[in-house]
Amino acid sequence: MTLSAVMSALTDVPAPPAGKPRQRLFIPGPTDVHPEVLAAQTRPMIGHRSDAFESLYARCEEQLKQLFFTDSRVYILAATGSAMHEAAIRNCVGGRVICFVNGAFSQRWYDVAVGCGKEAVRVDVPWCTAVKPEQVADALTRALADGPVDAITVVHNETSTGVASPVDEIAAVVRVISPQTLVLVDAVSSFSGTRIPVDEWGLDLCLTSSQKALALPPGLAFAAVSDRALAAARTVTGRGWYFDFLLLERYLKRSTTPATPAISLMQALGVQLDRIFAEGVEARFARHHRLAARTRAWAAEKGLGLMAEEGYSSPTVTTVANTYGWEIEALNRFLAEREMELSDGYGDYKGKALRIAHMGEVWDADLERLLGAVEEFAGWR
Ligand SMILES: *Cc1c(COP(=O)(O)O)cnc(C)c1O
Repeated sequence: MTLSAVMSALTDVPAPPAGKPRQRLFIPGPTDVHPEVLAAQTRPMIGHRSDAFESLYARCEEQLKQLFFTDSRVYILAATGSAMHEAAIRNCVGGRVICFVNGAFSQRWYDVAVGCGKEAVRVDVPWCTAVKPEQVADALTRALADGPVDAITVVHNETSTGVASPVDEIAAVVRVISPQTLVLVDAVSSFSGTRIPVDEWGLDLCLTSSQKALALPPGLAFAAVSDRALAAARTVTGRGWYFDFLLLERYLKRSTTPATPAISLMQALGVQLDRIFAEGVEARFARHHRLAARTRAWAAEKGLGLMAEEGYSSPTVTTVANTYGWEIEALNRFLAEREMELSDGYGDYKGKALRIAHMGEVWDADLERLLGAVEEFAGWR
């Protein structure tokens, strides 16, 4: 037994996989990628119309459907999360969309909708708080007075503030008030770190990208798309070509994409999905929740405030108030000497908060090492 296995047995915490390298990045994306996954990208190229590629694609598709808890479909593209924001808007919004903005990434989705020339109704919710079903009900009811609403956009896990919004409750109220309105959800920084049962919650589109909790290199984007959303796309003009769901659907049936896929990244995806299922999906979710709880407990114990509204804290990134006025650049220089890095607060919170990401390949011992180093910087040990 290794020392970490002994420690784990004593504390009831599962041991990390053998040979796990130390985590370096505690920033909310990109996150560290396991060496086996990095190495998969150096495999020889294969043709994207080959049986080898199609079987790789089909297997990834099956596993992703399991991770999204959906029976419908998952589109896989060489793109990023923001690109999927655009794909969602182009395909699902012909007329009006309501965008709930409670942080930087939900604001981006609004900007994308405006950039696509859609009629976007922006509903601001204070940063560091969650979007609540009552706010959605209220905004939707008011907007419906002026005509139908094609879709709403909401970010599940606002990476800028460390707030998770109850998208299950939000989807439920939308269904009651306006059954034809599609519920579009960004799960870029929460997907694979917590359970998001897309079908059960009635999400019409749930998008994510590779470089956050999935712990892959940047460059792949994914969207679980419901039959309803696909049917809506048929009625929308100006879907473009690269992101056209109807075209993607045709190629998906042959386990491939219209344009050349990012083959090396797909090889890495195949290896990482196998690693995720080897750990166990529920065990992986539990690990993320355990690390989030530990980070919050540590902050409380040290007299550091938390930025996220109570009860809505993120399972993958914790935003801690910079209560002692640390110079965050100096803290990161100190951490860099120990081969670690965390994030400053976002936007207006720069210097006022620090963001500790505990997603992807982060295990308990990694987090302890980071928190220990922060304590050392603070002069507490
Ligand atoms: C990182 C992030 C994005 C942007 O994703 P890219 O892959 O960088 O385009 C969007 N939404 C959330 C919540 C994010 O954390």
